[in-house]
Amino acid sequence: MEFYIYENWVASDKAVIHYGTCPFCNNGEGTGRGSLGDKNGRWWGPFTTSDEAFKKAGTLNRKEVAYCQHCFKKI
Ligand SMILES: [Zn+2]
Repeated sequence: MEFYIYENWVASDKAVIHYGTCPFCNNGEGTGRGSLGDKNGRWWGPFTTSDEAFKKAGTLNRKEVAYCQHCFKKI
């Protein structure tokens, strides 16, 4: 299992942790629909555990670190 962080500084000042399999993450590729590309943020990862991703997210100096409501809710 792999985890990724999406760091966003345009829509909101936060870092969101995703499973690689999440459709919003797509193994760090995102949705590939343009509007959510590099202009709005960037992907970090992969990380082997959610703890590791959480620790990294904490070093990005975003106001908020969150787990994706889509992929983490299902587990
Ligand atoms: Zn997700």
